Amino acid sequence: MFGLLATAVGCALLAERARTYIATPYVPPACDWRRPDFAVVGGGPAGSVVAARLARDGQHCVLVLEAGGTYRGNPDFPEAWSLGDVKDTDRTLDPAPPDVPRLWSDVSRVEALRWPVPSAVVGRMMGGSGAMNAMVYMRALPYDVARWNTSRWSWSGVSASYARFERRLDKSGRVARRGGGPQRGVSGPLATRRAPLYEQDALAQAFLETCQAAGHTLVTDFNAETSRGDVAGPYHFNIDERGRRASAYAALLEPLTKAPNVRILTRATARRLRKDRGRGVGVEYTRNGTTFVTRPTRGVALAAGALNTPRLLLASGLGGAKVGENLHDHPVVPLKLRLSSADFYRTPGPFAAFQQRGAQTLWASPGTSVGAFLRSSRCGPNEPADLQLTLFAPGQAEPHVDEVLDNSERSREFFVKRDALVTVALLRPEARHSVLLNTSDPYGPPLISRGPQNKKWYQPARCPERFCRTDTAWVTDGDAAVLLEGIDFVARLTRTPPLDGAVDVVDQPPPTDQHARLAWVRARALTNSHWVGTAAMGDAREDVVDGDLRLRGEPTVVVADASAIPAIPNGNVHTTVLVVAARAAEALLRRR
Ligand SMILES: Cc1cc2nc3c(=O)[nH]c(=O)nc-3n(C[C@H](O)[C@H](O)[C@H](O)COP(=O)(O)OP(=O)(O)OC[C@H]3O[C@@H](n4cnc5c(N)ncnc54)[C@H](O)[C@@H]3O)c2cc1C
Repeated sequence: MFGLLATAVGCALLAERARTYIATPYVPPACDWRRPDFAVVGGGPAGSVVAARLARDGQHCVLVLEAGGTYRGNPDFPEAWSLGDVKDTDRTLDPAPPDVPRLWSDVSRVEALRWPVPSAVVGRMMGGSGAMNAMVYMRALPYDVARWNTSRWSWSGVSASYARFERRLDKSGRVARRGGGPQRGVSGPLATRRAPLYEQDALAQAFLETCQAAGHTLVTDFNAETSRGDVAGPYHFNIDERGRRASAYAALLEPLTKAPNVRILTRATARRLRKDRGRGVGVEYTRNGTTFVTRPTRGVALAAGALNTPRLLLASGLGGAKVGENLHDHPVVPLKLRLSSADFYRTPGPFAAFQQRGAQTLWASPGTSVGAFLRSSRCGPNEPADLQLTLFAPGQAEPHVDEVLDNSERSREFFVKRDALVTVALLRPEARHSVLLNTSDPYGPPLISRGPQNKKWYQPARCPERFCRTDTAWVTDGDAAVLLEGIDFVARLTRTPPLDGAVDVVDQPPPTDQHARLAWVRARALTNSHWVGTAAMGDAREDVVDGDLRLRGEPTVVVADASAIPAIPNGNVHTTVLVVAARAAEALLRRR
């Protein structure tokens, strides 16, 4: 009897509590920003994902520290785009010709929006490199995840996470209803779609037809492949329904900027982590010349990117001996194509296209729409392609290619309208570099050290022309040999219909003498800003972070960005960085 009574009273109390819970909206705590729940260092793609996830339910106070400012490109009126609160006076802004909304090539040229790390084009602004990258949406492959060598990650988990982020749009810009495989997402925050108008681009179409004639299979979506072999097709991009760049910052964090439990400090540069006895791990940062410390009660997410996160760890003496090692990228060799057929070089630029075809052409565009993958002779029988070819429209240059040119000879002069560009990127380089502290300024930008284990890589090649720099040898001889196969393939394409007779490779490796050919490639291989690996996850005790992205010995600190990826995926990396960041946020939330 007594038991029954007690149960009834208990139930009534629970019901009352549930009613109160449902009826009363949750009031966020007043945040003490010196003691928030979480601090996130970096407002790039990874930082945006982590901060938004931690803040989403309104229960935690989340402080975001971003070294750069807020870049605002006007999405609707390209000619009226502004630099937001970017104030640096050292910018070299090339205002002509104006590009498309949230343009990429011009944004990436503005020095105030980039870190001053030689040879590295890395964003320093809210949105990080995700606010100025080429927007190519490319998932990793099961092969890639297997190479990460940690029992905590599986392809099914990764692919489900991609789907949660994705809102796949069809050709007309509406959310796709079906197709694209079972693991494609249609209700996520980040839109993906093919380049607008690529079917009307004569050069892009000829490139695809030529790849097919050379033995490639044409596909309509590289992301539907779980093992990319010799395939060619249109890229998918993070471009939204209205044709604007779909960045993780704009989609996830920007909507929370006024939330009471989120504070974003721009121009706040983290110097180091501070471990003070009994007070957890704090973040020391500078803003307007003053140094502050925030001491989050529940955790810190490092999302400063694969160059800056290891710099922070090194300056803090945290993470162990492997911090900064294993830096790698997709080294890329640009090849200029001279177009001799008017059909191709009359492909209109954005403004000519606007005049001819109307507003639909004023879309975010990196100047590319199609590409191809290629398996070199270094591939094992079951391995995916290790080369990626990307075609850029006439007059469009990649910022990485710009990097090797002087300011005076920017793409305007160099890439005349009759020149297109094909980049050949190496997807599984053996070359590894490292991030070092600048000992004369440990809190300043990091240094990149190439090698150093094999000085032979870096012997300056003879480099008589201006389109090559002797200090750009980012690859081993083995890597150069693979890149050479891609370069030879491009030369073959120019001899294959329908491209033959209409296109010439302007600058080619010498025809014979393998040594000279490799030197030619080494001198031209550039970085591609797909940096990963400098605080790599793994199951071994000496790995910098564990499979849940927690720093060894400091479980309240997670590495949430590209640094944690131990082996670079076989394709563009941005969307995989988002998956890593989502996982890091869950690890922080799980910890009480
Ligand atoms: C020009 C370019 C083109 C690219 N094209 C593509 C593409 O088409 N597709 C693709 O998949 N990938 C592309 N990438 C790569 C992709 O953008 C990156 O992999 C991705 O942005 C990495 O995200 P992240 O958050 O790890 O780092 P980042 O994007 O580097 O963001 C880090 C952020 O942290 C901030 N920060 C750094 N240090 C500190 C500090 N001490 N204190 C406070 N804040 C700090 C930075 O200012 C930055 O905002 C491209 C990159 C570039 C640069």
